[in-house]
Amino acid sequence: MSLRQPYLTSRLQGFGTNVFTEYTNLAVRHDAINLGQGFPNFDGPELMKDAVVEAIRSGQNQYCRMTGIPQLNRAIADHQERFYGLTCDSESEVTVMNGATEAICATLQALLEVGDEVVFFEPFYDSYRAAVAMAGGVERIVTLRSSEGGFVWDPAELEKAITAKTRAILINTPHNPTGKIFQRSDLEIIAEQAKRHDLLVISDEVYEHLVFEGEHVPMATLPGMWERTVTISSAGKTFSFTGWKIGWACAPAPISAAIRTAHQFMTFCNSAPMQPAVARMLNEADDAFYANFVEEYRTRRDHLCDGLSRVGLDVLTPAGTYFALADIRPLGWDHDVEFCRMLPEKVGVAAIPPTAFYVNKEAGRHLVRFAFCKTLDVLDEAVQRLAGLPAGA
Ligand code: PMP
Ligand code: GLN
Repeated sequence: MSLRQPYLTSRLQGFGTNVFTEYTNLAVRHDAINLGQGFPNFDGPELMKDAVVEAIRSGQNQYCRMTGIPQLNRAIADHQERFYGLTCDSESEVTVMNGATEAICATLQALLEVGDEVVFFEPFYDSYRAAVAMAGGVERIVTLRSSEGGFVWDPAELEKAITAKTRAILINTPHNPTGKIFQRSDLEIIAEQAKRHDLLVISDEVYEHLVFEGEHVPMATLPGMWERTVTISSAGKTFSFTGWKIGWACAPAPISAAIRTAHQFMTFCNSAPMQPAVARMLNEADDAFYANFVEEYRTRRDHLCDGLSRVGLDVLTPAGTYFALADIRPLGWDHDVEFCRMLPEKVGVAAIPPTAFYVNKEAGRHLVRFAFCKTLDVLDEAVQRLAGLPAGA
């Protein structure tokens, strides 16, 4: 009997194996330093590890509450109040998720009708397109373009992208992969459009504590925006445990209720013993912790960016996140995928080709993304290896 094919639905055609899997596999195959997929080569705080062990030993090993354990929901609400003056009710307006990835997916599943349009910026975090597609939504893209003063976008493009079918604008600040911090003025334009067209805003703020220049402004703090904004973040970046996959979504109670309806059937709840550990860290991380976190990352950023400049790449120094984009044209290359496929084998370093984050590939093919969430010795070794970069054709 023949089996009907293809197995992959039309919704997911074209998504294939994602760029992080592809380039981490290449790094492993060639024993390369992996500056591709964004994960630290060091652990987060010891107290969090101790807290997980304690939770496991004390029997917190069964399903927990679907919306998150109460002390974590409270700690997340307190974090929003402490840093941004946002008051959310921990019981009805905070939902613990399996990383920001699930938060994005569940939010789109919950809020989109089939055929609804979602506007987001390219380059984009790769899960956005797939999550919109899985929810039966339609993407509308606005392009961030590099300029002297960093990445900019054209408000007229945003206006053009919004139609009668638009349901939401999905933003990410600080932005992966450009390192752009959306300024208050950027957010005001987006907010204005959202209010004028009665749209929701989904705001991915996973790099909220990785800000080197300026400040992080959450969309939900703008006048009239809390009501229509879903704020998403994750413990993975801030506490350097990307594999724990504890994230969250904060939104007004009626929107949270909708998101929870999707969440309960996607994962129901998340790893129970990780949750008290994240709660404890959110509660105990003092201002010095966050200041030190940024300073350590600033040193890593400067180390990598200086090194990349020395080897002849044109670096676009990021204002936030732990990624840096570099223009490869000064070395005679102009195709990111060719460059990144060559790099692990020939040079012993892995990086990410940003065209994976573009629909309009031409806008990003001269760039390569390097992650600097690595110890300085590893960054130094990577730069040393990159000194042997072959020139492009
Ligand atoms: N959003 C952005 C912009 C990211 O870079 C990432 C990847 N780290 C995520 C969401 C996913 O976060 P998590 O690992 O918590 O699912
Ligand atoms: N967010 C990480 C990055 O941009 C990767 C996450 C993943 O592997 N899906 O590198």
